[in-house]
Amino acid sequence: MSANALEKGVVFNIQKYSVHDGPGIRTIVFLKGCPLRCRWCSNPESQRAAPDIAWNHTLCIGCQSCVQVCPQHALSLDSQGLHKDHAHCIGCAACVHICPAAAMFRYGGESCVGDILDDVEKDSLFYARSGGGLTLSGGEPLFQPQFALALLREAQERHIHRAMESCACCPEETFLAAAELLNYLLVDVKSLNAEKHQAFTGQSNERILSNIQKVRQAFPDLKLHLRTPVIPGFNDTEKEIAAIAGFARDVGAHVYELLPYHKMGESKYRFLGKDYPMGDAALDETSFSSLQALAGRILPSSLERRE
Ligand code: SF4
Ligand code: SF4
Repeated sequence: MSANALEKGVVFNIQKYSVHDGPGIRTIVFLKGCPLRCRWCSNPESQRAAPDIAWNHTLCIGCQSCVQVCPQHALSLDSQGLHKDHAHCIGCAACVHICPAAAMFRYGGESCVGDILDDVEKDSLFYARSGGGLTLSGGEPLFQPQFALALLREAQERHIHRAMESCACCPEETFLAAAELLNYLLVDVKSLNAEKHQAFTGQSNERILSNIQKVRQAFPDLKLHLRTPVIPGFNDTEKEIAAIAGFARDVGAHVYELLPYHKMGESKYRFLGKDYPMGDAALDETSFSSLQALAGRILPSSLERRE
């Protein structure tokens, strides 16, 4: 086995037969860990690099087995729910294994590149027929840079088409090293307003915008697909979307897409013992349609919408 194939990292999902995240039929490998904390994040289980223990109160029968088995005394269960002392949990998953009701579960586990790509390669026939392949996603795949690069190198060796969904918030040299191994790059551009970006995601947008420009200059033939999640109270205005669409046009994106805000990740916040940061915020469908039309006027040939 090659050194790349032996590289290990933490993955929280492998999704087959996706048709949204790059061309053709794809297998998406979701890596754990992200430098951003977007308030609307629909994958809160992806944010920490380490595995997360979660609890579904609707399945729990209150037997206390998890509390008793925990070697770290990190759990307690009372009428308010299950409480976990994050500082003491070592992620051993003893609580998950003992739970008789499948109310405890773990997001994420360690896997090696060779095993993941053996699984991805099982669908080679679909990739060949559709122009698909592997997509790395997360979290932010480059939050585990060595692991992500090893996955891309090994996929290249196996002649698998390679795409990556990234927030581009990483060191420039890491972003360029990944781009060199890619056939298709998807990046979210959330706002051009640095202060607002910092307030809603926990990070400034400066490095993100710079990395996108650097990649475009270094790899002019790499397919670049920019996307903007339209978030109520954050960027759902003509001013914001016009500015981002202008950036996408000027940087030479092949595709620019608006993604409507959704609340599909809300239950996962509950499982992780967290509050959902967006509350009851909702996206106005009519406003979304007019923002799409606006972006379409700025980039007439490349606008798409994904439901
Ligand atoms: S994963 Fe292990 S240490 Fe963490 S709460 Fe469960 S039993 Fe305790
Ligand atoms: S072991 Fe499972 S069912 Fe029993 S208290 Fe813990 S979470 Fe609930």
